[in-house]
Order: sequence, then C-alpha cells, then structure tokens
Amino acid sequence: MFFHLMLTTECNLQCKYCFGEALEDIDANFPSLEVDYSFPRKIGYDTHLLNRFCKQDPDCVLSFYGGEPLLCIDEIKQVMDDVKAKNFLIQTNGLLLNCLEPEYVNRFHTILVSIDGDEALTDFYRGNGTFRKVVDNLKSIRRNGFRGELIARMTVMEHTDIFKQVAWLTGNDEFSFSSVHWQLNAGFWQNDFKRRDFKKWSEESYNLAIRKLVRFWVDHMEENNVVLRLYPLLGVAQSFLFSEEKTFLRCGGGWVNYTIQTDGHIIPCPTMWGMKDYYLGHISNANPLKLKQIFVSEPCTECDVYNICGGRCLYANITKRWNAEAYSLVCNTVKNLIDTIKGEMPRIRRLIESGKISLRDFEFMKYNGCEIIP
Ligand code: SF4
Ligand code: SF4
Repeated sequence: MFFHLMLTTECNLQCKYCFGEALEDIDANFPSLEVDYSFPRKIGYDTHLLNRFCKQDPDCVLSFYGGEPLLCIDEIKQVMDDVKAKNFLIQTNGLLLNCLEPEYVNRFHTILVSIDGDEALTDFYRGNGTFRKVVDNLKSIRRNGFRGELIARMTVMEHTDIFKQVAWLTGNDEFSFSSVHWQLNAGFWQNDFKRRDFKKWSEESYNLAIRKLVRFWVDHMEENNVVLRLYPLLGVAQSFLFSEEKTFLRCGGGWVNYTIQTDGHIIPCPTMWGMKDYYLGHISNANPLKLKQIFVSEPCTECDVYNICGGRCLYANITKRWNAEAYSLVCNTVKNLIDTIKGEMPRIRRLIESGKISLRDFEFMKYNGCEIIP
C-alpha cells in the first residue's frame, strides 16, 4: 500500500494555481460535506504509532507530502529513522532540498519536484527566482549522490504550451529530466471555470500539442532507442502493451494509495483533507491492508473509456466543482490523449519487435504520485 504523509498544511510558496485560486475561492465550500478545518497544521502524532501501523504491511510505501513537506525537516528525519517502510518518496517544491542532509535525501526512492517547464513559465506560475533555486538544489543533490528517480511534476493551465515545455524539460542544457508528469489544473476549484478560458485553450492549444508530443515521444524512441518516462503517455501505453482489461483510478486514490492527515486520520487522497465523511480510520487502530475502498461513480462509470482512463480523479468526481458541461472538456482531453497513444501503438510495437526498445522500458512504480491521467 502507498500512503501520502501530510506533514504540514503550510507552504513556502504562493503559486497561482494553488494559493492564487484559493484566494479567489475563499467563499466556496462543500455544501453536502462536513469538513473539519481545525486539524493540526503540523504532524501531531507519535512516529512509533506510524511504525506500528506501517509494519503490518511489508510493502508499505510512504510519500512525504504537504503543504510543503520540507518545512518539517526534523519530522522527516524522525519518520525515516523510526518507521520501517519499504520505500520513502517525497513530493516537494524543491526550495529546501538543500536543507536535508544527503544521507536522508539519498534514501529517497523517488523525488517528485514541482517545476512547470522553463524558467519563464515556472517563475510566472510559482514566483520569481523559484526555477533558479530549485534547479541549483537539484544539481546539488545529484552531485551529493542521489541516484533515485527524479520526476518533474508540472501543473498545467492556460499559459502552458505542453509540447514546448515537456520538450524543454527533457532536453535542455540547464537540467534535463528523463521523467516528467503533468496534471491539469481543472475541476479542482469552485469558481475558476467562469473566469478562465479553459475551453479555448484545451481545444486550440492543449489537445493539438498532446498529439504533437506523443509523436515526439515515439520519434525519440526511434531515433535514440530510449523511452522517455513521460508518465501520462507511459502509463496508458503500458496498459495497451500489457493488454490490461481494466484499470481502477490510476493515482490509486481511495483503493491502494491513501493519505494520513497530520492528526493521524486516514483519507483517500490529500485533497480530501478534513472531509469527515471520508475518514477511513486512524493509524492508531487501522490495518493498512484492510482499509475500506472507495471508487469513482458517474459520469465515469457510464463512460466508454472508463476501463482505460480509470476515472481521472476521485476528488473531482465526488465534489463535482465543475459542472458536467465544463468537466466534459477535461474528459475530451483524456479521450484525445488515449486516442493519440492508441494511434501510435503499432509503431511502438514495431520498435519493441525490432529490439530498439523493450517492454521493460514501460515498467514503473505504480501509484508513486503520478496520477497518469492528467
Ligand atoms: S474520460 Fe472523464 S468521464 Fe470518462 S472515465 Fe475519464 S474522467 Fe471519467
Ligand atoms: S488524481 Fe485526484 S484523487 Fe488522485 S491523488 Fe490527485 S487529487 Fe487525489
């Protein structure tokens, strides 16, 4: 099982799509849900309790999460010292990576670092100077011996040309990534759809750029014998290659990947903090292998690509913050992604048969924090 550990609700950045949206959504709430806004801002339980919980599952994977988890360096070290987990991962904005000693950084199986593309775009969304500081820290952790997977985790919205930015992240002179994941800022906030132009952007930019990107990805395999780990493409192509008949929600939220709040309550996903109707137990007495499972409902269950999409997002499916018409634009992006990858599968299969690439190149640690469906 996978668990996000929410170490703190605080963050040291004020990004446009998170802090900025929260300010605009200040009066939005969840009319049909009871939300506890009063749980501790910082991890408030004993790490030995977490160890007792975790060691019931020999495959327990813990992923540090926030807010910004590196605001809790002492707590990270304490968890890594006290808790027997199979692997430790972290999702961070990268600003404080230089503050954690290499002996801990080098134990991470995977670091997912938030970066939205080149310097201009990253700083536009995340604040001036962010890109430079993060890249300096990434160079430094590589120099200090970090050999695990480093995934650039992009948040994507109207200012992003997804082709241009992913191509840049995977092939620049500054700091290139071989692993990239992205998520659309879509369906997460209450009031943003009407003030944004998601329809125009998704139809006239994003969907076209995704087609170009999938071609680029397969061209790159052909020319370099390398499968770039572009997670949305990798995950869907893997399902086609391994003839997977049905996938559940690909982030694992609510069925194999849960979140532990700062107060020890277990919830399906970090975005569902405080939603009491979805408290699934507490680390003091729950068995990680026997947690209740929660799955998406309509419209996903009625959708003709449900078996391959898996439902995109449990939080969006439950809260329905965008109405059906608006959300159908998001689903159109999913269908475009799936169709485009499907169209390239014959070429991918030929490359595997010719030995240029191998099936093994499509394997990855599932539920590592990449949701696959953006
Ligand atoms: S495409 Fe949309 S409706 Fe269909 S399964 Fe995915 S998220 Fe659900
Ligand atoms: S895709 Fe949705 S349910 Fe899954 S982790 Fe992200 S926010 Fe949570």
